[in-house]
Amino acid sequence: MTTYWLEHAWLGTHVEPNVAVDVTGSDGTDGTGRITAVRTDVPTPPPGATVLRGLTLPGLANAHSHAFHRALRATVQVGSGTFWTWREVMYGVADRLTPDTYYALARAVYAEMALTGITAVGEFHYVHHAPGGTRYSDPNAMGEALIAAAADAGIRITLLDTAYVSSGFGKEPDRHQLRFSDGTTQGWAERASLLTDRPHARIGAAVHSVRAVPADQLATVAEWAAERGAPLHVHLSEQTAENDACQAAHGCTPTQLLADHGVLGERTTGVHNTHLTDADIKLIGGSSTGTCMCPTTERDLADGIGPAVQLQRAGSPLSLGSDSHAVIDLFEEARAMELNERLRSRTRGHWTAAALLRAASADGHAALGWPDAGTLEPGALADLVTLTLDSVRTAGALPRLGAETAVFSAGGADVTHVVAGGRVVVRDGDHVAVGDVASALTEAIAALR
Ligand SMILES: [Zn+2]
Repeated sequence: MTTYWLEHAWLGTHVEPNVAVDVTGSDGTDGTGRITAVRTDVPTPPPGATVLRGLTLPGLANAHSHAFHRALRATVQVGSGTFWTWREVMYGVADRLTPDTYYALARAVYAEMALTGITAVGEFHYVHHAPGGTRYSDPNAMGEALIAAAADAGIRITLLDTAYVSSGFGKEPDRHQLRFSDGTTQGWAERASLLTDRPHARIGAAVHSVRAVPADQLATVAEWAAERGAPLHVHLSEQTAENDACQAAHGCTPTQLLADHGVLGERTTGVHNTHLTDADIKLIGGSSTGTCMCPTTERDLADGIGPAVQLQRAGSPLSLGSDSHAVIDLFEEARAMELNERLRSRTRGHWTAAALLRAASADGHAALGWPDAGTLEPGALADLVTLTLDSVRTAGALPRLGAETAVFSAGGADVTHVVAGGRVVVRDGDHVAVGDVASALTEAIAALR
């Protein structure tokens, strides 16, 4: 057993000083360690305890990631354009990925995530095959590269293996998209069924979008996920052009189409959920379908601001993702969701800081099929994320306002220590396994140029 003594701990509703947390069940390497006790009123560290100064939070969950988009950071900020012109640049990087280069990039990106307090990632993975659509000898070589990358970066992964079989409503995949396609969702299901859960990895499903999976093939993906009790994610109404094309092809909104084919439900998360009708919001909330907001990407790609307040009020649990990785910082995602709403409504305080942290932690983990993570309580996976309270950003904050400090003052750079499933991943700001994460990123990105 390992004992941690936390100077201040956020316990979901409030900050408690002087907390001891016992962790057991892991040899410290496989990330399955769990919290066995949380003891308050422990004024001095017990003998042998690891002391964590500052504010300790549960692990953060990055519920929506495309690891390879990290290679685009800054380089896509030259000139003007739209989501669709950005997509052409993104496809150029996708064309150059191999299992080896993708492993190296994803390991570095997941290490970057770990440095900011992220202990689980939902990887929305659709670059399945070699360029042109040729199968690798292991048809899941790319997915396996991502699972290995997460293990070596010390975080958990939910591989949201993504069905992507058409270019638009009734259109064949274009030349870039051949790598993404299994031909049909039946072909997708056969390949995805070869993937297996590991202690640090769960296999989930995704429908890329209503553009990429024909309506009559949606049920195959939904049934595959239902049989396994697996999470099912889908990009939903990120762009108005998708809504228009869906109306033209099917005479309904993308949300209605997904509802009609059994895709919505409590294991399902709609990613973005930006351009919705009132009826869409009712369908999503009424079916307990989750919403993953990706505010830094949505602003970067000029998507618009989704109706997160109304969705949550209607019954949709919220999670957060860094998606294109223009920024990797869940504190910024949480802050941006609230601040976007302030800009739109010209009123403040749509969520409490505690509610925003919950979206970034427990609710994000639940959306990825880890309902036993994201809280500091007995039985939970032992994720501890410690923020310094004396950086230039956080200095002067009152510890009892820890949630407010984390969301509205701190950034990922204030994370000093990360334990994921009992394994120490970040110590004193350094990634224990990867070491120089910046160099790992530089090399991995250079290999794709
Ligand atoms: Zn996405």
